[in-house]
Amino acid sequence: MSVSRYDVAIIGGGVIGCAAAYFLARAGVARLCVIEPDPTYANAATPVATGGCRRLFGRPENIRMSQFSIEFFKEFGAHMAVEGSFPDVQWKEGGYLFVVTPGHEKVLEANFRTQQSLGVKVELLDRAQIAARYPWMRCDDLALGVLSPEDGWLDPNTVLQGFRKKAQSLGAEFVRERVVNLYTSGTRVSQVEVSSGARIGADAFVNAAGCWAASIAKLVGMELPVNPMRRFEHYVEISERLPPMPLIKDPDRLVIRPEGPGYSVGLVASGEPRGFNFDADPHYFEEVVWPACASRIPSFESLKLRREWAGLYDECELDGNMILGNWPGRLDNFHVACGFSGHGLMHAPAVGRALAELITKGRYETLDLSRMGYRRVVENVPYAETGIL
Ligand SMILES: Cc1cc2nc3c(=O)[nH]c(=O)nc-3n(C[C@H](O)[C@H](O)[C@H](O)COP(=O)(O)OP(=O)(O)OC[C@H]3O[C@@H](n4cnc5c(N)ncnc54)[C@H](O)[C@@H]3O)c2cc1C
Repeated sequence: MSVSRYDVAIIGGGVIGCAAAYFLARAGVARLCVIEPDPTYANAATPVATGGCRRLFGRPENIRMSQFSIEFFKEFGAHMAVEGSFPDVQWKEGGYLFVVTPGHEKVLEANFRTQQSLGVKVELLDRAQIAARYPWMRCDDLALGVLSPEDGWLDPNTVLQGFRKKAQSLGAEFVRERVVNLYTSGTRVSQVEVSSGARIGADAFVNAAGCWAASIAKLVGMELPVNPMRRFEHYVEISERLPPMPLIKDPDRLVIRPEGPGYSVGLVASGEPRGFNFDADPHYFEEVVWPACASRIPSFESLKLRREWAGLYDECELDGNMILGNWPGRLDNFHVACGFSGHGLMHAPAVGRALAELITKGRYETLDLSRMGYRRVVENVPYAETGIL
């Protein structure tokens, strides 16, 4: 049986695995591999993401991760330059606007204060101010909004490919295989077996397999409360030309942002049955998304649906936050990075940096993310994100 050996082996080459590979290579890890079965990323979450990047969270860790990551994205081309080619993530600093109905002001205000205390440029807007600024939006049911004008969106696939190519140029090897089994020795994972039957040994492993991460961790007894949750994205056009708008998240969890000549819209259904379902559902758009769009912005009444697709959130059922790091004392060299619940793209640079610190230094150096660790799962102590409205 053939066994290849690496310092670090990363399972899953989506944006999280590729970002980890980049930061590990930068940190001097020489023998590094990313095990990814599908270079087309047909079912991966990364290429189908909306691309939104926001500092509008309630937990300081999430805000700080966004602060680092957004600045990183703004310099992405320079960071990821390979042989004179500078990937352009098409960063659009359109801003993020969260609006809430009466009764929800307190959460928004508390988050606003946390965001401000961490140096985020945010504005609190009452109903009259929202109406004055966005006269094309229905505001009569709203109580309050918070605008983060320096947030924005970008192209997810360019981020993915940028990290991947740069990591490769720094020596990371991409192995086109699927992990099918793990082998342990004491409190360490020693090898993984891949679909061809070959084995890969490493000093440390990262489980960055997104929606598939829980089934991989289960092979070594690590239960992750992470399930696939289908989420639709729709591209629509309207006949009217509205002024430039931020990404708007409304009380129905409707998200609308400009995209080219039209708009990218989505509405997260938290009750969606969990599982690997990639099918589109035309009824959902007609019955839920369209009415919600038209109700918030009347010009969307006559929209034209041009394209729609489905992808999967790796939803953390415990608290909607990522699970990051090892299982201390039980699986010391096996680091998970999953459960991103819709925020993995915007946090990928910070997560990659964090994993590189954990693996090469044994601790967080720049940003302490211990509260995002597996301990809270074992102890069943959720660390919920109050910024998700
Ligand atoms: C519709 C939609 C909109 C979104 N919008 C946003 C947004 O606006 N902003 C944001 O930040 N996030 C957003 N997200 C979430 C974001 O896309 C994810 O959090 C992020 O892409 C997760 O990256 P990942 O690398 O963990 O997972 P993935 O991109 O899914 O990559 C996991 C990889 O693991 C591989 N794999 C699976 N099984 C194995 C195995 N056995 N062995 C080896 N490899 C394996 C898969 O092939 C896959 O390529 C959105 C998600 C969806 C679905």
